[in-house]
Amino acid sequence: MSPAVTDIFTLSHNSKLPDLLEANEKWSEGMTEQHPCLFRDFNAHGQAPHTLFIGCSDSRYNEECLGVIPGEVFTWKTIANLVRSDDPTCRATLEFAINVLKVNKVVLCGHTDCGGIKTCLTHQREALDNPECGHLYSYLQDVDDLFHEHKQEVFAATDDLQLQSRMLSVLNVQRQFKRLVAIDTVQKAVARGEIEVYGLLYDVATGLVEQVPGAVEK
Ligand SMILES: [Zn+2]
Repeated sequence: MSPAVTDIFTLSHNSKLPDLLEANEKWSEGMTEQHPCLFRDFNAHGQAPHTLFIGCSDSRYNEECLGVIPGEVFTWKTIANLVRSDDPTCRATLEFAINVLKVNKVVLCGHTDCGGIKTCLTHQREALDNPECGHLYSYLQDVDDLFHEHKQEVFAATDDLQLQSRMLSVLNVQRQFKRLVAIDTVQKAVARGEIEVYGLLYDVATGLVEQVPGAVEK
């Protein structure tokens, strides 16, 4: 029998600040045991990440799916991994990672079972059009547009909600990837041969990433 989530998670809704601090101490000790020089000899003296990881804010994955440790990857997470050229956080993150930190890889990694995508796919976005979720409602416009542009092919391909949502996740990575590589900071660095850009999809059911068709620039 599978253990309950409460048996394998470190913290829970019941955890308070002392629990967080204690958990952090254990994590730091464990990390130091595994890599005695990591904090003291490397992270204490700055960062030189090789990769910028752009992913969805979803709790089930992050740059650690690449097997990396602190100091390797600069990360930016956003709901449904949307990349917008008019978003100052997006532009600042790209400028810092590419022009200042000099990463040589940019990874745009979407994922299966994305809440933002499923909200639009199951027509639940309308319910967010209220004062408590108004920003989220507006934010998801882009995902809703994607859904409406592709709904015929998605519904024709399968009746299975999980597969429909997976197809939209792939289409979303392709759409955001196109926008990402069109941003001048990225475009110039690619042209100078300084970075490669990859679009990936993380599967929350297996922990594996796969390359998204057409989403590579080098
Ligand atoms: Zn998501």
